[in-house]
Amino acid sequence: MVVVMKGNAAPGDVDTIVSVVTGVGGAAFVSRGTTRTIVGLVGDVALFQTLNLGALPGVLDVIRISQPFKLVSRESHPVPSTVYVGGVPIGPDTATLIAGPCAVETPEQTLAAAWMAKRAGASLLRGGAYKPRTSPYAFQGLGEAGLKILAEVRDEVGLPVVTEVVEASDVDLVASYADMLQIGTRNMQNFSLLQAAGSCGRPVLLKRGLQATVEEWLMAAEYIAQRGNLSIVLCERGIRTFETATRNTLDVSAVPVVHALSHLPVIVDPSHAGGRRDLVVPLARAALAAGADGVIVDVHPHPETALCDGPQALMDDDLALLAEAMATIPPLLGRKPATP
Ligand code: PEP
Ligand code: MN
Repeated sequence: MVVVMKGNAAPGDVDTIVSVVTGVGGAAFVSRGTTRTIVGLVGDVALFQTLNLGALPGVLDVIRISQPFKLVSRESHPVPSTVYVGGVPIGPDTATLIAGPCAVETPEQTLAAAWMAKRAGASLLRGGAYKPRTSPYAFQGLGEAGLKILAEVRDEVGLPVVTEVVEASDVDLVASYADMLQIGTRNMQNFSLLQAAGSCGRPVLLKRGLQATVEEWLMAAEYIAQRGNLSIVLCERGIRTFETATRNTLDVSAVPVVHALSHLPVIVDPSHAGGRRDLVVPLARAALAAGADGVIVDVHPHPETALCDGPQALMDDDLALLAEAMATIPPLLGRKPATP
C-alpha cells in the first residue's frame, strides 16, 4: 500500500503518516521524487485500511498496489516521472542523449570524447572510472583519479557526469564527484549497492541485468526507491539470449513494457547491446521509435587504442548520423531535445 502526498504537503504531514503507521506496528518508507513524495507501507494492509490515512493532512491518495514493486509502479504514480541530472531532464517530454567514453583513460581522451559528445548534441557525459570487467586481467578503471578527470572535463565542457559505482563502500565518494550514479548490469541485484545508492542523494541510472526479467529489474529499482530515492532512470542494455551474432540482444519491447508498468524513465544503451559500431545507430533509431526517453552511447577519439569496448565506440561520422536520428525521430513522438 502506498500513500501519495499532495505536491504542497508539509514535511510534518509526512512525519504524521510515518508515526501513525509505525504506531500500529507497520513500517513506512518515504521516497521523494521531483514533484511528489510517496510513503510505502509494509505490514498489515487490513489494519492500515482502518486508519483512514486518506483523511490526514497533505494526503492526496491511498492506493493498494497490486504489483510486487510498489514505489516505482505506474499505479502509485500514474503520470510518467521526469528525473533531472544536473538540471538536464530525462522523461516523457524529451529525448536525452548521453555520450562519452566507455572508460576514462586519460584527461586528453576524456576531454576529446566529451567534445565529440557535445558536438553530437549530448547533454550528459558518460564515462567509467570504476569498470566492472569480466576478466580480472582487463583494465579496471582509474578509480578516484578517473573521477577527478571527469569533474575537470565537466567544468571545461559543461556536461553533467554519469559514472558507474561498483561497490557500496564507494557510493559516497562517487556521489561527491558525479551528477548521476550508474549501476551496471552485473550489479543489478547487488542489493547493498542498490540500498546505498538509494541514500546517496544523487539520481541513479539502473541498467538491466543481462539475465534479468523486467519484474526483477523493477524490483531492483524498488530497493533504491525504498531507501528514499525516486530519481531513478532505467536502462535497457541488451540481454543474453542464444544469439551470438550480436554482443547481447536489445530487448526493444522492454521500453513500452516498462513504461506501462512503471512511472520511471527508460533509456537504451545500443552500444553495449549490439557491441558493434555499425549496429549502434540502427538500434538507437529503434529505441527512439519505441519511445525511449533517451539513449546512452560510447564514443572514443581513437577506438582502435581504447582500453575498453573500442569496437562499439562511435566516431565523428557515426555521431553525425546519431545526431540526425535524435533530431528527427523524437519530435514525431512529441518530444524535444533535452537541454538544461
Ligand atoms: C558501461 O556502461 O560502461 C557498462 C559497463 O555497461 P553494462 O553494465 O551495461 O555492461
Ligand atoms: Mn563498456
